Amino acid sequence: MKTRPALAAAALAVIGLGTAACGGGVAAGAESAPAAVQKSTAEAVAAPAQAPAKPLAGKVVVIDPGHNGGNYKRPDVINKQVDVLTQKKACDTTGTATNDGYSEAAFTWDVSVRLAKLLRAEGATVKLTRDDNTGVGPCITQRAAIGNKAKADLAISIHADGAGSTSHGFHVIMPKKINGPVDPVVAKSAKLGLAVRNAVKKQTGMPYANYIGKNALDYRSDLGGLNLSTVPKVFIESGNMRNAGDAAKMKSSSWRQDLAEALASSFQTYLK
Ligand SMILES: [Zn+2]
Repeated sequence: MKTRPALAAAALAVIGLGTAACGGGVAAGAESAPAAVQKSTAEAVAAPAQAPAKPLAGKVVVIDPGHNGGNYKRPDVINKQVDVLTQKKACDTTGTATNDGYSEAAFTWDVSVRLAKLLRAEGATVKLTRDDNTGVGPCITQRAAIGNKAKADLAISIHADGAGSTSHGFHVIMPKKINGPVDPVVAKSAKLGLAVRNAVKKQTGMPYANYIGKNALDYRSDLGGLNLSTVPKVFIESGNMRNAGDAAKMKSSSWRQDLAEALASSFQTYLK
């Protein structure tokens, strides 16, 4: 009850100020406002600054949802060769799918949208490398360029693997030095990768990959998305879509939410 009159006074004061700012005729009245009202104005202006800052305020995150739902329709576009510095590779690929047809592109898009929502709520500026899951591309070179252009504090490329059916678990891929543009962010990317690995292990129940990397950490120099990045960046291979247990998790919307939440919390850890 006590706060209501104070709020009303503050609101009136703000309205008074706004009117004065917009119309000169009222300015004289505003200048002669009683001291009590002027004090309320000061409080009203000061109040927002005292609100706790959102944890990712001022941070820029680029999320790259691997592949695209329309890639299979345009082999002429996605098979075009691009230069990833250590080799030439296809512009993009169709990605994999579960045995019953849930595509990697749909999975990466869903997790990315969930993650973007969480990060924006935490105050981050978020950019995705594609706008929907019905288009084609962009090329892996362009996916890296989007993160660079945004001067992202961090970037992540979200994928799922398509390995043998007994292979299972997730792993994080980090860049290696290649005497190229990624070299200055290799160390920061390794730090980001560790934060992502730890959070995903803790929060999703997906085990470390049993077929690649060491303790779910892998380092590669053949990925355009990493080689061409000038901002700290990692890939996550969220699980093996060809393994029944991993596929069941990835097909679950609640598991995908857990993954998005794990990634968001790992970014807070890394950016702290
Ligand atoms: Zn992929």
